[in-house]
Amino acid sequence: MALKKHHALAVFSGGLDSILAVLVIRKQDIFVEGVYFETPFFPAQRAKESAVQIDLPLKIIDITDEMLSIIKNPRFGYGKGLNPCMDCHFLMCQKACEIKEKEGYDFIITGEVLGQRPLSQTKQAMLKIQKECLCGDYLLRPLSAKHLPPTIPEKEGWVKREDLLDLKGRSRRLQIELAKGFGLREYPSPAGGCLLTDVTFAARLKDLLAYQKDITPRDLELLKVGRHFRLNPKTKAIVGRKQTENQILQKMTLSKDVELKVIGYPGPLVLVPYGGDPEGIKLAAILAVTYSDAPKDRPVEVSIQYRGRKAKIKTSSLPKEVLHTYLIKVFCKS
Ligand code: SF4
Repeated sequence: MALKKHHALAVFSGGLDSILAVLVIRKQDIFVEGVYFETPFFPAQRAKESAVQIDLPLKIIDITDEMLSIIKNPRFGYGKGLNPCMDCHFLMCQKACEIKEKEGYDFIITGEVLGQRPLSQTKQAMLKIQKECLCGDYLLRPLSAKHLPPTIPEKEGWVKREDLLDLKGRSRRLQIELAKGFGLREYPSPAGGCLLTDVTFAARLKDLLAYQKDITPRDLELLKVGRHFRLNPKTKAIVGRKQTENQILQKMTLSKDVELKVIGYPGPLVLVPYGGDPEGIKLAAILAVTYSDAPKDRPVEVSIQYRGRKAKIKTSSLPKEVLHTYLIKVFCKS
């Protein structure tokens, strides 16, 4: 009688650890598929490329709304930015468990390594997630399994515990050796996955959450472009820093935004999402002049476009140090 081939669902980030977790389990003749939980803070591109590299079928599921709720009110706090890592791991495990139940996978795997991250990968945190998430002991971390209590797939003999790993800590040396052993020549560097850990991005997101009730995917994409100024509670201005950013801002502009540009001189596109108020628009015009090549010793004209109508305003620049008091850049968690 042919033995049943077991199916695992991998919570797959596309980083080296998650690639190795898949390969370690696949080596035990388990069929593995991946799931990537996507948001604008951690887009799926890297995961898609890594999945192609190791021939892993990959589902992509958007969890932006759930992540926004968690960011507003995390149970376990933040890392150095607005990254609620423990809550985020819990959410992803929970979502993966729901897919397991619905689609009939036998167990879940992740690429977590004990002690690699200060918040979410301590032994206590990993066991807490295991205990609280829907699938409990059906959650297996193949790279650190030997430091953790045996899970159902090990107890049932679907995977051999002796062939799982005992990685621990922040060093990547053993992972790099393992990658070589699996014939992996290229894999993503560990840095730079999640924008929530970037303090400038975190400051912008915190400002958005403080001043805007309904947040759209476009509002989140705008956080990635230009210099951001909070001019008053109703007005935020985004100033393109170079031509490519001006073009991106232009593409994302809606008719209910205000667009400002100095007339007759090269300069940035200044975007005021959702229009702001008249006092804010005057300041946005000053920003347009200050960051342009227009002369700084006399007033110049600025075009203002709003809901298909065009107007002009004449204004002067201000010293950048004065305008920097409006710059959204300082992140403080409280
Ligand atoms: S770094 Fe970002 S994606 Fe990773 S666990 Fe933390 S919040 Fe989630």
